[in-house]
Amino acid sequence: MYVTLGDLRPMGKAAVWVLFGGCNWKCPYCYERDILDVASCKKSKKCRVVSVQQLVGAILQVKPKLVKIGGGEPTEQARQLEMFCTYLKSQGVAIQLHTNGSHPEVVGDLLSKHLVDMVSVDVKAPLDNERLYKKMTGGLGSPQPVRETIDIARDKAQMTEIVYPVIPGLNDKKGYVIAIAKDLYYCSIFTVQGFDKRRPSADEKLYRETDVPTREHLIELAKAARDAFTNVDSVRVISYKGEEEI
Ligand code: SF4
Repeated sequence: MYVTLGDLRPMGKAAVWVLFGGCNWKCPYCYERDILDVASCKKSKKCRVVSVQQLVGAILQVKPKLVKIGGGEPTEQARQLEMFCTYLKSQGVAIQLHTNGSHPEVVGDLLSKHLVDMVSVDVKAPLDNERLYKKMTGGLGSPQPVRETIDIARDKAQMTEIVYPVIPGLNDKKGYVIAIAKDLYYCSIFTVQGFDKRRPSADEKLYRETDVPTREHLIELAKAARDAFTNVDSVRVISYKGEEEI
């Protein structure tokens, strides 16, 4: 399995992030362009090929209570992901899986086996807007499996987070977050995450020509979503000023 061991980053004292290399989508704004396919993983200094056992051994040395798994798209390596979660779960570690939602069957299988506690799903555009979804994902993504993943997660996971990445000029309209909140109507956490220019994006032109959204605009979007959801426990904003609950 390809992972970025550079991303065994302690989160506070209790959690670590592990990023699985490789993704089936090619979002132009993606910050992880170094690990989006096997060729770039091989070139990247951040990325290493390790066995599941090696990875688990390294993680357990940190004694985390929580492991957050992202990528890339971790569900693309379904067999390794299941082994990884099985080892960690046997050691009593809680698991948060962050996915683009393209493989509902993998998420459902992990949840049925009680191998994941919390699921975070990117929703990049209103789920009835196929055209915008394609644009946000480099022509490769589709909203249908995302909807299925969210339905499965809400049914089976302890917590379901919906993450809305805000890319100015592409999907930063208030109407879009309102449409998503009305359509999906409940989740544990809704997170509005602003475009971040601290790392280059996959598409260099987009990176050059797109500004980061202001904190004020992100808060406005988050408040609009909060008002439109029927039921949401927590609404968060991640801006260049950090994370905050609205
Ligand atoms: S789904 Fe998009 S943003 Fe997420 S890792 Fe893949 S290319 Fe990057």
